[in-house]
Amino acid sequence: MTNNFKNIPNQLVLATVLEATNTGIVITDNLLPDNPIIYCNPAFEQLSGYPRDEIIGHNCRFLQGKDRDQAERQKIRSAIDKGENCVVEIRNYTKEGKLFYNELYLSPVKDEEGGITHFVGVQNDVTSRKKVEQALEFNRAETEQKVMDRTRMLKESEEYLSSIIETIRESLVVLDRDYVILDVNNHFLNTFKVTINETKGRTLYDLGNGQWDIPELKKMMTEILPTNNPVLDYEVEHEFPHIGKKTMLLNAHRVEFEGQFKDRILLAIEDITERKAIEQRKDDFLSIASHELKTPLTTIVGFMQLMSRLMPENASPKFVSAFDKTGTHVTRLNQLLSELLDMSKIQTGNIELHKDLFDFDRMVGETVEGLLAATPSSKISVEGSTGTRVYGDESHMIQVLTNLISNAIKYSPDSDEVNVHLSQVSNFVKVSVTDRGMGIHADELKKIFGRFYRVRSTQKSFPGMGIGLYICEQIVKNHGGTLWAESKVGEGSTFSFTLPIHGGRENGDV
Ligand code: ADP
Repeated sequence: MTNNFKNIPNQLVLATVLEATNTGIVITDNLLPDNPIIYCNPAFEQLSGYPRDEIIGHNCRFLQGKDRDQAERQKIRSAIDKGENCVVEIRNYTKEGKLFYNELYLSPVKDEEGGITHFVGVQNDVTSRKKVEQALEFNRAETEQKVMDRTRMLKESEEYLSSIIETIRESLVVLDRDYVILDVNNHFLNTFKVTINETKGRTLYDLGNGQWDIPELKKMMTEILPTNNPVLDYEVEHEFPHIGKKTMLLNAHRVEFEGQFKDRILLAIEDITERKAIEQRKDDFLSIASHELKTPLTTIVGFMQLMSRLMPENASPKFVSAFDKTGTHVTRLNQLLSELLDMSKIQTGNIELHKDLFDFDRMVGETVEGLLAATPSSKISVEGSTGTRVYGDESHMIQVLTNLISNAIKYSPDSDEVNVHLSQVSNFVKVSVTDRGMGIHADELKKIFGRFYRVRSTQKSFPGMGIGLYICEQIVKNHGGTLWAESKVGEGSTFSFTLPIHGGRENGDV
């Protein structure tokens, strides 16, 4: 209390200030044992919830209740010992036991010799500020934790992704919108025996000796970003630098990340040279085997026909039945071998078409008659007509129709009705074969035209090799037409094909 107060007339004014202020103030007497409180103002009573007579005479520590283990206490003790000022935020408890954060300014009062006679404690309840600070701190810690977790997860998924990318047995290339290579995996570098420097930053079409600079591929790649249409299973056979002649299978997709398309293309390149070679060997084997088997079988068929003519009239029924059964199985074997032979001819491009003009409706009528004779229990109806002659290979058309109707009968175990519908659409004839059979799942519809593909659920119960539809599709394609299927599981299927009436001739005489 130095010259700051020299103009204040008397102590009464100071006492009034102390009593009126909103800040809690206590004064302790340092000369008495245990430094007891000798004065507290009403604001302190308010703050602590204790009445003045329960405060006076106590050491300030009573405000901490049992919460004695606070670092701030050490600070206060040291300030008292040294006779210095100090500021702390200490946890205190009201008379009702409610926690409040007390911002305490502690100042010593010294006498003329410098001895500490009193301490003045100025106290404010900063609980709300403390709570906000604590909430902020909690949020910060929580956010930090979240960031750490997210970073860890990202790192993990990045590592996971890169381990997949590096383990995958396919070459991967990431391209930007100008087909410049941004990145490749090690498999790419190992397969093409190139370094990252020879690859990164160059456009796809400048690589090596221009192996990917193929107009058709370029066109498909150009369409990926604007249309999101991927390049699927595009085969490239090429004499590659360093590795020689190879067949590569290309798939390219627009990169999609967290549901958003980016202006990046992921190109996957698979070396299928070996697979193709194995397939080729398998095809060669099938072709040779079916050819070699067909020759003795033709002889067997001939001898069976001879035996049938030489069959004695009094042959026993058992003998006749065994002979007929042999005939049925020989015919079946003959059909299977013919299918295999047809397939290998298609594979090698050796299928011969003997095109001529033929009456399409007559051909359909005769084929259905033949099938009705072979399967008398089935009801095959023909509706509509094309009313035209078609330029094509009649025997192949009979083969397609026979196959579709036979399938319709075979895969309809609970229905014997098959409908064949004929029409002329523009310059095409259209044939639809409808059954009320088991139907085909949508996922399988495209696949059934593949070689050796059979719907899994039918594999065990129905005989077949899964090449009939493949042959049909190739024959129809070779005639310039299309073959497709529509179906609903449990309701039935419709197989339709179209054929150009003029069979691809410019000025067909039909
Ligand atoms: P295969 O009949 O010898 O198995 P296909 O190539 O003719 O060979 O047919 C391929 C597969 O398509 C068949 O195994 C069968 O699962 C399915 N399929 C063909 N036609 C029908 C049909 N009309 N109804 C239901 N499934 C069919």
